[in-house]
Formats: sequence, C-alpha cells, structure tokens
Amino acid sequence: MKININNKVIDYIAYFLITISIIFIVIFASNNKLILNFFNDAENKSFDYRQSLLVKHRHLKPNKDIVILAIDDASYEYILEHYGEWPISRKVYADIINLIEKDNPKAIVFDLMFIKSFKNDLTSDNLLANTMGKYNNIYTGINFDNESFDLRKPINLPEKMKANVEIKAKNISIKKTFDFSNCRAIIPQLLSNSTKVGMININRSNDGIIRTAPSFAIYKNEYYPYLSLIVGNNIKNDEYIKNYIIDKKSNLISNKLNIPLINTGECVLNWYGPAQQTYKNIPFYKLVKLTKGEKISDNYSFTNKIVFVGTTAQSLFDTKSVPIDKIYPGVEIHATYLNNIIDNSFIRKTTQATDTIIIISLILLITTIVFLSTSSIFAILSTTLVATAYYMTSYYVMKLYNLWVPEILPLFSILITFAISYLAKYLLKSRDFEYQYKLATTDGLTELYNHRYFQDTLRKQIETAKRYNQPFSLIIIDIDFFKKFNDSYGHQAGDAVLKGVAHILKRNTRATDFVCRYGGEEMSIILPYTDQKEAQANAERICKAVENHVFKLPNNIECNVTISLGVSTFPESGDTPQKIIEKADKALYWAKEHGRNQVGKNE
Ligand code: GH3
Ligand code: MG
Ligand code: MG
Repeated sequence: MKININNKVIDYIAYFLITISIIFIVIFASNNKLILNFFNDAENKSFDYRQSLLVKHRHLKPNKDIVILAIDDASYEYILEHYGEWPISRKVYADIINLIEKDNPKAIVFDLMFIKSFKNDLTSDNLLANTMGKYNNIYTGINFDNESFDLRKPINLPEKMKANVEIKAKNISIKKTFDFSNCRAIIPQLLSNSTKVGMININRSNDGIIRTAPSFAIYKNEYYPYLSLIVGNNIKNDEYIKNYIIDKKSNLISNKLNIPLINTGECVLNWYGPAQQTYKNIPFYKLVKLTKGEKISDNYSFTNKIVFVGTTAQSLFDTKSVPIDKIYPGVEIHATYLNNIIDNSFIRKTTQATDTIIIISLILLITTIVFLSTSSIFAILSTTLVATAYYMTSYYVMKLYNLWVPEILPLFSILITFAISYLAKYLLKSRDFEYQYKLATTDGLTELYNHRYFQDTLRKQIETAKRYNQPFSLIIIDIDFFKKFNDSYGHQAGDAVLKGVAHILKRNTRATDFVCRYGGEEMSIILPYTDQKEAQANAERICKAVENHVFKLPNNIECNVTISLGVSTFPESGDTPQKIIEKADKALYWAKEHGRNQVGKNE
C-alpha cells in the first residue's frame, strides 16, 4: 500500500514536470525568430480566414454615408476617349467639386495626388487649388518615400500639416516603421489653402497583404497624419484637432477620437465587405457628363455624404490585396479606415501577457484531461472538443468584440501538449504495469518468486526440456529446526534469517536459475539445462554457504542456521511437475532423516 501512494506521488511529480516542460517548449518556440515568423505568418492567415467568414456573414454594417466616386475601367476609357490622356486636366476635378458641393456633402476626400510636374497646365492647377480652397471639407493626398536627394529635394511642409503627438505607451515605435526622408511635392497652392492634406501610401505586410493602416508618417522629425485619420478626426470632433496622445494602453486619442494601435503605431482594419459591393460606387465619368450639362439616367444626391474619389480601374494599378479579397482598390481601403474610425470598430489585439495566460491555461487543461482520463478515446475527444471550442470562441470574440485573440500558437500548444502528455502517460502506465507484474509474481518478504510463479515456471521448463531434449534440475530447500529457532529468537529474527537465506541462494545461483519461495521456510530452485551431477554439486555448495554464514540478528546476537536439500532432475526423476517435486521432496526427507545440514540422496 505504501509503495502505491509513492507511485501516485511520482505520477503527480511527472505531471507537474511535463506541464512545466511543455510550457518551456512553447515559450522557447515563440522566442525563436524563425519559428516566431512562421507562427506570425500562420496567425495572419488565420486572421484573414476569420475576416473572410465574418464578411460573408456581414458582421459589420458599412456606413451608408460613405460613397466612392470611382475612376473605374469605364471612366478610364471615357477619359482616354474625351481627353486623350491620363491624368486629366485638373479643371475636371474643379468642376466636379463645385457640382458635389451644391448638395452640401460632409467631405470630399481625394485618394489622388495632384503632383507638380512639367506637363502641368498652370491655369487649371490654380483653378483646382482655388476651388478646393473655397470649401473647408476637402481633403487630398500626399506621399512620402525614401527617394534619393539627387532626384528631388525634400520640400518643407507647412506648419498646419504637422500633428502634435505625445506618446505615453512604452511599447510603441512609429519611427522605425514609417520614417521617410522625402516627399512627393504636390501643387504648392494646395499646401497653403484650407485643404487638409494627408498621407496616402499604405505599406503592405511581408506577405503582400494589407491588414493594418498606419496612423502617422514621420518626415523631417515631424508627425504627419494619414488621410483617413484627418477626415475621421474632423468628423468625430466637428473640427480638425491636431493634438494626439497615444495613451499607456496604446490608444490613439484626440478628443472624441479613439483608435486602438498595435506596437508599430498602426491600426488593424476591420473589413465590411467585398470591393464595389460595400460602399456605393459611382462611376467618375457620370459626374463628368453632368458637369458638361449632359443628361444621365441616374440621380445622385451628395447631401451629408463622405465622397471618396479614387481609382478602381484595374489598368491604373492602384489595387492591393487585403484579408478578404485579392484585388481591393486603395480608395476603398481608405474608406474602410475611415469607417472603422467613425464606428469605433478597429480590431484590437490581445496583449502578450493575455496570450501567455491563454496558452499556459490551455496546456494545463490538456495535461489535466490526459492524465485524468481513463480511456484514450475520452482523452482524444475532450482534447478535440477543447480545440474546437477555442477555435469557435476566437471567431465569435472577433465577431462580437472586434478582438483578435491568437489562434495558431494556442492550437499548436493544444496539439503538442496532447502528444507529449499522452506519451508520458503511456510510459508511466507501462512502469505501473511492471510494478503490478512484480507484485503478482514475487514474495514480499524474501523478494524471491512466489509459489504460483514456481509452478508456472516448472511446467514451462518441462515443455521446453521435452522439446529440445535437454535436462533441467530442481532443488528443494528446508531450514533445519526452524520452529525451534523461532521459539528461541522470536518470529522477527526468523524473518530476517529467511531473507538472509534467500540472499545466499540468489548469490550462489546463475541469473538464468529461478529461485522461489516454495512456502513457509521452504525454498526451491529451478536450474535450466542442468543435469543431476551439476545440480547435486550446486546444492552442496549452497549447503556449505548457509552453514558458514553468520547471521546478525537485530539485537546484535550472532547465530548460525543450516538447511537440508533435495535434488531431482528431468527426465530421470520423472516427466510431470508432481513426479519431479515428489522426487526432490523424498531426497529432502532423506537428508532430514540422516542428520540434516546436507543434500539428500535419491534412493
Ligand atoms: P525441520 O528441521 O524438521 O524442518 O524442523 P522445523 O522446525 O523447521 O519443522 P517444520 O518445517 O515443521 O516447521 C516450519 C516452521 O517454520 C514453522 C514456522 O514457525 C516457521 N515458519 C514458516 N514460515 C515462516 C515465516 O515466514 N517466518 C518465520 N519467522 N517463521 C516461519
Ligand atoms: Mg518445513
Ligand atoms: Mg524446517
């Protein structure tokens, strides 16, 4: 019973050690750059998958006020046909602005860059700048890059474009990711009038897919906000507020505006729907026709609308890959960014600490399930259930709370934990089996084989000996006057002597011999491949060894015991267990009759 409790303790220690080592394996794996990259890529793909499913079920309602004035394939063809070139004269945009402004829109946002170039026609550039300057709800794009200074000189940007950013969060580093040395100059009048100018180029992640949008670009050590951030700020606060704080929890705050950022200073976009099917797309050429006084079949109203103007034509190459679609126009990405700002629906990511807690809890749960389950089927089913439940939860958490909990590393942890703890349990079990087997075949006091094992082995020996035509012998041993010994020294001393005799027998036999406790103070030895003569000699040697041994009893008394022995051999003594035992017994009896402390003769 005592050994059993120890076994349980060993199980718990093993369980504890295994859990700890799995946690270490996972922590080690997630700290290795290569492995980390692999998991990050896979995690991104799982995010894309979740987003695609969510979009299919339309988890977010797109803002009805956002419309896209799309320079689509049809408009591009129209432009080439009527103006002969792209880009078109900026007078066309000026006319369109005036047309839309008649309806009182909330904003007109150009995801276009009106760059300075030699080809420029100054009159229409001035016209566009003046038209934009007339209104205070016009936004347009600018682009930063790292082109060499030889090619163009980094221009100075006006004070009004700069944002004041105070970073309180410790783990945010905008600078490293979005630091630019140059800027594509747009027509200077636009920089000086009331038009709000925002950054428009969005970096792709390593795998070419746009999941995040930056908040600021850094140019000449100043922060320049992204186009949609400016529009969103203006819409949320009813005016544009230039002061931003990134608080300790990594939220980008400007009065009523609040955007959760990740540690690159970017925000993770939450998608509303497929391109062209999410926001109302109005072909650009239709408005061009209206400005020319031509009639069109559709009737548009821009009252209170946020009108994004940008290219969606495949031939103009401003299309990107996003989680939910391989081809997504840049202008709709900006629209999505703004929509996320308006309804506070950016994706938030769980913190590293939360992720660690999730993973450790899952490891603990799975090791517990595996160690406590009594059947493999139960262990497998429960582990699968946990994995499925986790997978479903991660989906619904994104759906309901816009929260991105990691999926890949936790699911991997579940799998590896199951594999390791299942293997460990199997190994512990086999050790347990060995223990049970020993318990069933040996005698507790002497640690010799027990009577049942003796009988089984004797039977098998006869079969083997018969098949291979080989002899084997049996020695039966009985301690002399043991009753008397017990009477004089006590039962415990008797037990100690029994153990001592068993030890001597073991020491004086081969590893292939079977030394058993036959019962009481009688022992037996089965000696495979041993004939009568050899066995007789062996028995004599054992007899002498016991006779010469001085037994030390617990109370420091020294004493001697002797034994009597009987030998029998297959096949001459018989060919059944009964006959062989009987023959050895007879010889033992002879030894007792003839003065003990000797090997009996077979008469
Ligand atoms: P003999 O020389 O004729 O064999 O005399 P004996 O006293 O040994 O006679 P017998 O075989 O009849 O007695 C066996 C005695 O062995 C009886 C019992 O007290 C003692 N014995 C049997 N099993 C144990 C045991 O596990 N522990 C102890 N201490 N004594 C045992
Ligand atoms: Mg006896
Ligand atoms: Mg005896």
